[in-house]
Amino acid sequence: MRLKDKVALITGGGRGIGREIALFFAKEGADIAICDVNIESAEDTAREVEKTGRKAAGFKADVTSFASAEDLVNKTLDKFNKIDILVNNAGITRDGLMLRMSEADWDAVINVNLKGTFNASKVVSKIMVKQRQGKIVNIASIIGLIGNIGQANYAASKAGIIGLTKSMAKELALRNICVNAVAPGFIQTDMTAKLPEDVKERMLKSIPLGKFGTALDVAKTCLFLASGESDYITGQVIVVDGGMVM
Ligand code: NAP
Repeated sequence: MRLKDKVALITGGGRGIGREIALFFAKEGADIAICDVNIESAEDTAREVEKTGRKAAGFKADVTSFASAEDLVNKTLDKFNKIDILVNNAGITRDGLMLRMSEADWDAVINVNLKGTFNASKVVSKIMVKQRQGKIVNIASIIGLIGNIGQANYAASKAGIIGLTKSMAKELALRNICVNAVAPGFIQTDMTAKLPEDVKERMLKSIPLGKFGTALDVAKTCLFLASGESDYITGQVIVVDGGMVM
């Protein structure tokens, strides 16, 4: 029960890693607010969380919109009265070689991944400053550390998240708010399921632990960063990648 009676807000929690984080945090005693652009999937995760005995709410929100982030946080406060933990997990890919990448694909990825993280963090950190405590966990990616062919937009967004994490960590440290990032490698979710088999095989060969990661592997690291066990850690990026980029 490492998150007993904490309230966590998780963006993009309808599927994949966000959903796993929601369920894992609930098992550790947290009440959970989930947002997603798809209200059905957010509500579905909320119903699963409730089965663990914790309170939950699924909200429709598009993190690319600051007004939507404000509305989300107001609804979360109405229901739960506080927000102890924010996990900025919502993310998308629109892969393609940089020379052929459309402006729309560049903007879409930067807006969801990077601006979305800024929007939710800005609104929630105001609440955390008043509460005099909080934990923000940003989901980056190893691609933000090493780059990748066909992912200039995604790599830039995730590298941006790492810079944002360190800046927020410095600005909020004296307010007793810790801000850290998790950089997953190849994790089995819908996002990676669409990759061609030969690409997956190549990736697998580059992972020293010899297997793909699971959403639970990421959720476990997020739990550490959301719990009291990491109270003296801020501004860090923890890589969860089976040894891929060591
Ligand atoms: P996923 O299965 O595609 O789930 C992403 C979730 O984010 C979906 O529920 C999606 O909603 C939601 N979302 C998308 N745009 C949104 C928006 N504008 N506002 C609110 N919610 C939005 O992806 P995942 O693999 O779980 O990835 C989760 C995070 O981990 C992402 O930030 C991703 O970049 C990062 N990551 C993943 C991997 C990996 O290997 N899977 C590796 C490194 C980092 P819909 O259901 O409506 O689309």
